[in-house]
Formats: sequence, C-alpha cells, structure tokens
Amino acid sequence: MRVARLYDFGDIRIEERARPRLGPGDILVRTSACGICSGDIMPWYLRRKAPLVPGHEPVGVVEEIGAAVRDFRPGDRVYVHHHAPCFECPACRRGAYVHCRTWRGTKLDPGGMAEFFRVSARNQRDTLKLPQSVRDADGVLIEPAACVVKSLKRSGLCSGDTVLVIGLGIMGMMHVRIARNLGAGMIIGADLFAERAKRARDLGADLGLVVKDGNLAELVREATDGAMADVVIVGPGTPEAIHSGIACAAGGATVVQFTSTPPATSLEIDPHDLYFREVSLVPSYSCGPDDTRTALGLVEGGVINARELVTHSFALERINEAFAAAQLPEALKVVITFD
Ligand SMILES: [Zn+2]
Ligand SMILES: [Zn+2]
Repeated sequence: MRVARLYDFGDIRIEERARPRLGPGDILVRTSACGICSGDIMPWYLRRKAPLVPGHEPVGVVEEIGAAVRDFRPGDRVYVHHHAPCFECPACRRGAYVHCRTWRGTKLDPGGMAEFFRVSARNQRDTLKLPQSVRDADGVLIEPAACVVKSLKRSGLCSGDTVLVIGLGIMGMMHVRIARNLGAGMIIGADLFAERAKRARDLGADLGLVVKDGNLAELVREATDGAMADVVIVGPGTPEAIHSGIACAAGGATVVQFTSTPPATSLEIDPHDLYFREVSLVPSYSCGPDDTRTALGLVEGGVINARELVTHSFALERINEAFAAAQLPEALKVVITFD
C-alpha cells in the first residue's frame, strides 16, 4: 500500500509498505479521506515526531476484521479517532479522557495518510459508524469539530454570552458555528486578514474585526460598549495572542487557550488583574469520545459541513501541495482523498 511519510516540514514522501497485519481484535480500514489538521502544520510539533505517517482525521471503509471482532463488519463506513481511553481509570471517571494513559498510548497504525490503517480493539471504542447522509468530506470534520465542542464546554459558555474568537482559520470558524448553535449572544471574530474576517461573518459571526498593531482590545471595547467578551477563544499558540485574549475578557470571563505554544514558552501574567476580574485561563487539548459523538451530531445536523468548511482537496500524491495549501490564509480545511 502507499503511505505518505513526513521527514520534515515540506518533505513528505510517498512510500510503498506492507499493509498492517491484523490481530484477532483489530480491523483494517481502507482510507477514503483524511483531513490535514492545524497541528499538522506546526513545524515544532511535527519535527519532534518525524519521521511519521501523519493524519488523524480519517474516514474510510472497513476492509477486513480480525476473528474476534463483533462490532464492525467489512463495508462499514467509519470515522476513527486516533486516541481512545480505557473508560475505567480515575481520569476517565471524571471525563478527563486526554489524561488517561490508554488514551495517550493509542494510535492508528500507521496513520491516516495511508491507503489502509489498522484500528486496535482499544481504538474501536472511539470509532463511529457514519450514516449515509454524512459524506467522506463531512466525516473528516468530526475530529476537529470535537476539539471545538470540548473547548466550548470548558469555556462554560452560557446562552446569550458574548463570544470572541481570535484567529479565523478552520478551528476559529468551527468555534463560530458551534458557539452559535449553543446559543451564544454576540459572536465576534478577529483576524489579521480582512478576507477571513469577512468569511466569519458569512459563516455566522455578528462582527469580523481586522486586527492591526495590537488594537484588538480597543476594537472589542467599542463593539461591546465596554462590556468586553464573556468567552474568549484564543486560536494562535502565542503569548501575544493569549495576552490579547485576557485583555478582551469581561469580568468573570473564561479565556480558552485552544492551541499549544511551542515548549518552554513563558507567559507573563498579572495575577492581581486575573484575581480581581476573576478571569479564568483554561487550556483545551484535543477531545474525548463524548466530544466526537456530539461532533458527529453537529455534522449530521449540517452545523458543521464540508460545503462551507473544506476549501481544498488533493490526491495523496499531491500531499506536499496540500500541506502548502493548508498554510494559505484563504484555506480552511484541506483534505486528502484516496481513490
Ligand atoms: Zn486534528
Ligand atoms: Zn482511562
């Protein structure tokens, strides 16, 4: 089978390798499509894992099952999450699935950017059968949408809240869509690019602000008559963006750090300010099996859909072009398709 193997940023090679061999509890999935994640294009994140077969937003069709598999059969269309928890440990019991050791230890073999991948019995606990109405390109949106479901859950969003979304790439746009679906009040999108701010309005934001010279807090003050935002989603993984998010927060607000900074980044905060304004800074990393199920519902309901959110698709051979396209300001989700 053909796989894409990433050696470095901009150096992804198509290689031939044997299909994974199945144990009795495993299933083999023939990949139909796989999304390129925003994390896949962060050089610091990739370099510490390279060489690897990237891709954790796959959908496909079950090709073969091990002798002990009961829940899936060949021909099932599935979305597979690359991490699945044990459902039994203390972290799982409190719903903090990403802190489950099993969750951290599970993965796809070899990854979603391959013609076939093996799904272990453990990973099958977060493998969802896709209804006919969910097309392949919609299905690749389940994992990123699940990360947004989790982020908004951690934000404590209440109906009528003013929501500020900083960074209007695919993840920012999904925050706009899902926050609207959850009953947010005013939704403000902010980005450095005017086209992205405009597209956020097309996708349901009330306002699209174009940020210049760190003037975001000023713009948000104007837009909210001084009230500022009850929920702030910080997309870019930089201390500057997090600072700017805190500056835009209303009293009692939650600021969600949605993206990791590179390792060993320091962030200067003023605990006096956070204390008296009671602003919470809450990180949100990846998502759990409860979030993927909610996300599938949002995809089925059309809140999240490929028609609006997938801007590019490429065949596997053109994966280097696809990764380059994913970095363009006009790109939302970029998808690799398999024949
Ligand atoms: Zn992802
Ligand atoms: Zn667990």
